[in-house]
Amino acid sequence: MEKVALITGIGGQDAAYLAKNLLEKGFKVIGTSRRSSADNLFRLKSLGIENELEVLSADVQEYSRIQELVMNIKPTQFYNLAAQSFVADSFKSPIYTSLVNGTSVLNILESIRLFSPETKFYQASTSEMFGESGSSFQNEKTIFHPRSPYATSKAFAHYSVQNYREAYNLHAVSGILFNHESPLRGEEFITRKITLGLSKIFLGKQKILKVGNIYSKRDWGYAEDYVQAMWKMIQSKKPKDYVIATGKNYSVKQFINECVKILKLKTKWVGKGLNEKLINLDNNKTIISIDKEFFRPSEVENLKGNFFKAKKELNWTPKTNFSKLVKMMIKSDLDYVKKN
Ligand code: NAP
Repeated sequence: MEKVALITGIGGQDAAYLAKNLLEKGFKVIGTSRRSSADNLFRLKSLGIENELEVLSADVQEYSRIQELVMNIKPTQFYNLAAQSFVADSFKSPIYTSLVNGTSVLNILESIRLFSPETKFYQASTSEMFGESGSSFQNEKTIFHPRSPYATSKAFAHYSVQNYREAYNLHAVSGILFNHESPLRGEEFITRKITLGLSKIFLGKQKILKVGNIYSKRDWGYAEDYVQAMWKMIQSKKPKDYVIATGKNYSVKQFINECVKILKLKTKWVGKGLNEKLINLDNNKTIISIDKEFFRPSEVENLKGNFFKAKKELNWTPKTNFSKLVKMMIKSDLDYVKKN
């Protein structure tokens, strides 16, 4: 029988890599995208797969549409990757974020329960749910202490998946993924903002880059490695939740320093707090400064994931380390800036 994978949020970073991966595994892939005036399928194009899958329009908030899709397609696997995924924006639109990231997951779970209970379901949970958990190395047992509307909405979805698995015996899993990046990362996210901003500065197309808290630490992996974990998780015999991470974390400042090293820029950090800045020693100009606007009302200082369970039970380990990831993103952004 034909294996069909349905992926919501097909225009996003993870969906592009996941779709490519599933196509290579012989799946028929159907992606859903909400109506948008922007070209939101450019990532599929950049991977050369835009003609290999079907794209249907659907907003995950629209129960009747989700029900219709689940009833008609009865997918073998359903990956819910759609989300209002930008933490900073979730403080500006908390209610919208809770509807898209939280209640919409119930729309999907209800549809699967009622019309296609054999469908295996994957939910995109996040390390942001740990927030300030009090633990410096988080695993599946670490308590959640969400610190943003994004994180609270994802925690609601996470517990809903757990509940539907226990109450209705659905094959539903949540991947608690730590930050994962790539050249296809949205430009508003801090890693891409830095690689793109510094590439522009390096090529003389931008003067200065403004950032927020450079001391928050994140566990950064490569998106292509992480979509393989999604697949392994949904495939596994017994549905369970897994932490997916690299086990190492770096501050935003360390991320910037790595970019500077790759670009061979001669720089120096000066000042403290909001006055801290990065100076280009070749011309004594400030190339990075701190702007209060980019601080969150409640920050998450330290995320570092323990992926021991995924390694043991799924035989999954990350393949791409921090410096390789940063190098890949800088290289891609230098090419991108030169062409645009
Ligand atoms: P992304 O690039 O921002 O993609 C999210 C996608 O969701 C976008 O294509 C967006 O469409 C779509 N979307 C937003 N609202 C929607 C709605 N109401 N109905 C249908 N689609 C909607 O995010 P990503 O990095 O690929 O992440 C994929 C998933 O993993 C997300 O759920 C995210 O929260 C979660 N996650 C990501 C990370 C990470 O570090 N990347 C870590 C943990 C969890 P538009 O293109 O129209 O905006």
